[in-house]
Amino acid sequence: ATPTALMVGTGRGAQLGILIKGPEVLESTRTVDTIVLDKTGTVTTGRMALLAGHPAPGTDETELLRLAGALEHASEHPIARAIAAGATDRTGPLPTPEDFANVPGLGVQGIVEGHAVLVGRAKLLAEWEIHLPEDLAARKQTAEAAGRTVVAVAWDGEARGILEVADAVKDTSAEAIRRLRALGLTPVLLTGDNTTVAETVAKEVGIDADQVIAEVMPEDKVDVVKRLQAEGRSVAMVGDGVNDAAALAQADLGLAMGTGTDAAIEAGDLTLVTGDLRAAADAIRLSRRTLGTIK
Ligand code: ADP
Ligand code: MG
Repeated sequence: ATPTALMVGTGRGAQLGILIKGPEVLESTRTVDTIVLDKTGTVTTGRMALLAGHPAPGTDETELLRLAGALEHASEHPIARAIAAGATDRTGPLPTPEDFANVPGLGVQGIVEGHAVLVGRAKLLAEWEIHLPEDLAARKQTAEAAGRTVVAVAWDGEARGILEVADAVKDTSAEAIRRLRALGLTPVLLTGDNTTVAETVAKEVGIDADQVIAEVMPEDKVDVVKRLQAEGRSVAMVGDGVNDAAALAQADLGLAMGTGTDAAIEAGDLTLVTGDLRAAADAIRLSRRTLGTIK
């Protein structure tokens, strides 16, 4: 390898908004045939908005938003931020929780104004044997089919309502995926979000429905990468979250969104500075070309 060729490659990379950890990371771009994409914050903007709250019969909508918002205010998850902001807009200043804990990949739990509150996936409520009443379960299905993320709320052992949150696909994602396919890579969508939402996003950006891996717990993302590698695939992974760090490190080529968390950036081989997924295709094309000039 001639150092000059690598330097040229990485210098051009910096111009394109791609930071490369070291020239040795480029080698894997020759072989990668699969690119695993995290959904939230990678394919989508991660800037979520609270669209609606649907209280269970007997629950007041303002109370639903206030208690859920108060608990989410203590979390940094993009969904939590959307719910806290939306609840503040609609109901005013939120109470401070007396107790709070993150439940990674599921939601949050804590105490607000003396109530034991749960906010997150229906699975979080199910762990406490709390189930949504039929009308809310039906509403949840409809909202998810429309591509919205549904967050369930319970307190004092009872389901109290659902919240609809939406996150827009980045306008550059579909083009990025076309370019990645043109480089011979199969795109795979990987997310902790539910299958219906994931399939809706996949369809919008041109990922095949059979390449969607949803409802994956944060600690299991790395196992998905390992499984693909065990099938003989050479895997690139793009992610932004703390929950993506182990998978980024495990991948043959880890690409971190520069707009994401420090943990992801540290784990990745490359950083896509502006968080534009098209830079993933640029990085692989540029690297292959750089390697082609060596020898
Ligand atoms: P992703 O893999 O898409 O980046 P996460 O693994 O962070 O998502 O979360 C998986 C799912 O768990 C989310 O889609 C959401 O349904 C739920 N969830 C996680 N944290 C929260 C929270 N603080 N409030 C509500 N729901 C949450
Ligand atoms: Mg993410």
